[in-house]
Amino acid sequence: MSEDLEKLKQRLPLLDYLRRQNWTARPVGRGGEFVGLCPLHGETRPSFYVNAHKNLFYCHGCGQGGDLIRFVELSQHLSFRQSLTYLQRQSVVADPAAVLRQASAFYQQQLDHYPEARQYLERRGVRDPALIRELQLGYAPGGSLRRYLLAQGYSLDLLRRTDLVNPQGHDTLYQRVVFPCCQDSCIVNLYGRSISAAFAHRFISGTKGDLVAWETVRQFPSVILVEGIFDLAVLWQAGFRHTTCAFGTHLTPDQFRQLSDRPRTVYLSFDDDANGSGQQAAQALAHRLRAQGITPRRVLLPSGHDPNSFFVQGGDARQFQSLLEEALS
Ligand SMILES: [Zn+2]
Repeated sequence: MSEDLEKLKQRLPLLDYLRRQNWTARPVGRGGEFVGLCPLHGETRPSFYVNAHKNLFYCHGCGQGGDLIRFVELSQHLSFRQSLTYLQRQSVVADPAAVLRQASAFYQQQLDHYPEARQYLERRGVRDPALIRELQLGYAPGGSLRRYLLAQGYSLDLLRRTDLVNPQGHDTLYQRVVFPCCQDSCIVNLYGRSISAAFAHRFISGTKGDLVAWETVRQFPSVILVEGIFDLAVLWQAGFRHTTCAFGTHLTPDQFRQLSDRPRTVYLSFDDDANGSGQQAAQALAHRLRAQGITPRRVLLPSGHDPNSFFVQGGDARQFQSLLEEALS
């Protein structure tokens, strides 16, 4: 209990907490001390001191002093135990990972309320409700996330810092199917695929995270790497569970390390674009993988196809299996 208490106080420094409550202060001396108007009693001349190093406050006006918990007891009129509960909640609402988790859960709930989103998934050949749940696909209608998260106690500042809300104060993702990108099982980004005319691919700011579902896919002796989440979805649906995705043809250094963390065969099943960019990228990546002791194989899809369109336009698991067997080494 007392250790939890110390951790809580470290996670939520008194000065940060006060600033979040719009307490303004100026530094005094060089000892990490700050002074401002007392939030606990009415005054016009500052007599409320905070020592940031000691994480303590003292007011020369009303004589109150103590730590963060004491401050919450006094300012919120709560018992010690109630103050703890209140602060635990506050420390959650200041956590970027928590707000991304909440946003992803919110988007998943929206999927059922917007037929246009379901229809989009249908068009991309993603029909299995269990798969949709497993991939945690959701829908960002736009214009409702900000209100929802503010009501949950998250600050607008945090929503801006995580880029869930743009600098103009609007939801960043708008009319997009949303997929949560994870790193070490923690959501670090959201990918949004536009279902309208808007620019197709959008992330909120931050890293793309790990290769998709890498913790399970890495167990397989061979893996299939695709460009997009809807390529992965149709392949999983067709039984190719050893498929992962890097969102595009460019792997981050972390993703490249993951893919080459032990000897394996990697099937590169990139888009067959008219300008050949997908295949060029596959060739370059194959070269780099080979240098790491990986056996790369380049899958040649019919002209103009990506794995998603291949299945959507009638390709089946047996046909894709032949493509894997014919893949170039
Ligand atoms: Zn005071």
